[in-house]
Amino acid sequence: MSDQHSFETLAIHAGQEADPLTGAVVPPIYQVSTYKQDGVGGLRGGYEYSRSANPTRTALEENLAALEGGRRGLAFASGLAAEDTLLRTLLSPGDHVVIPNDAYGGTFRLFAKVIQRWGVEWSVANTSDPAAVRAAVRPRTKVIWVETPSNPLLGITDIAAVAEVAHAAGARLVVDNTFASPYLQQPLSLGADVVVHSTTKYVGGHSDVVGGALVTADATLAEELVYHQNAMGAVAGPFDSWLTLRGIKTLAVRMDRHSANAARVAELLVSHPKVTKVYYPGLPEHELHEVAAKQMKDFGGMVSFRVEGGEEAAVEVCNRTELFTLGESLGGVESLIEHPGRMTHASTAGSALEVPADLVRLSVGIESVDDLLADLTQALGK
Ligand SMILES: *Cc1c(COP(=O)(O)O)cnc(C)c1O
Repeated sequence: MSDQHSFETLAIHAGQEADPLTGAVVPPIYQVSTYKQDGVGGLRGGYEYSRSANPTRTALEENLAALEGGRRGLAFASGLAAEDTLLRTLLSPGDHVVIPNDAYGGTFRLFAKVIQRWGVEWSVANTSDPAAVRAAVRPRTKVIWVETPSNPLLGITDIAAVAEVAHAAGARLVVDNTFASPYLQQPLSLGADVVVHSTTKYVGGHSDVVGGALVTADATLAEELVYHQNAMGAVAGPFDSWLTLRGIKTLAVRMDRHSANAARVAELLVSHPKVTKVYYPGLPEHELHEVAAKQMKDFGGMVSFRVEGGEEAAVEVCNRTELFTLGESLGGVESLIEHPGRMTHASTAGSALEVPADLVRLSVGIESVDDLLADLTQALGK
């Protein structure tokens, strides 16, 4: 598949040429661990063992590389498995990482509770401010980690500006692109070295599979990642790869609807008397709205807000919605609501990444927006 095609076309076709054996128009689920060799070392299709490579996973990996404009995509069992593989590929004891002051709680936990035990140092910076990132750099900084939009406060980082800071310091810029999806934002084209995804979210899009991905345009790094993916073994299975590919086919149309619905939800919340603050990069009053508009095609489906009455009131709103399902995760076709302080971000309590107690996070789905607005209105009360 030529890289010249537009995103919507690549989503449906990249890595998914009809199966050479049967002509099947979607990649079959190669539910197999090993492959017959024609004489020792005589591999028929290049496959020898499904940890190293599997045809269904290859289809997904080629597709992901095309969608992010990268050279190589790698699919993992979860977003955190992808992150762990990346960090252990790039870092050695004594190295230093700059992490954002607003990030997925599990990413923070991986740095603070796991990677740190292997002698890697980290410090927190407000990545929305490139000068703050520069100030956090140390002689052994190897990685600058960015999440934009961030989870759960929808902070925006100027990817091109922070890429300059990273490269001037001899570090690599990693961008967690989970909230935007490759349809709305392509970090490699803005100077990032590696893109991370929890494909569990928008890429898969249907709340039916957990997965992760890495994409890079750097051939040498790609080889190192492939080596570590096999050496560490946290790979995506064939069925999970197939489900993720199935989700990707509709990524563009889903993201358009997620973004349109979320914009309406943000508008409703801004004018609601019980809401004290709304976090959505599409709002002109968002402090980095201009940067978001420059580097994103649209503003995505995630909206967070704070309510009058503190933690109890926020928890009440979460308990009262009927259409918005109370649950962790995000990015599926169905709308979700959660309380980050007690749920997804409980692991950040007491740290620089702690989230406000009166915060509610929405993953706005693709249902009828009128039904969603009515549900929020009744849940917020008068
Ligand atoms: C969910 C999530 C992750 C972790 O991915 P898993 O698939 O749950 O392991 C990483 N980053 C972001 C922004 C996420 O939302």
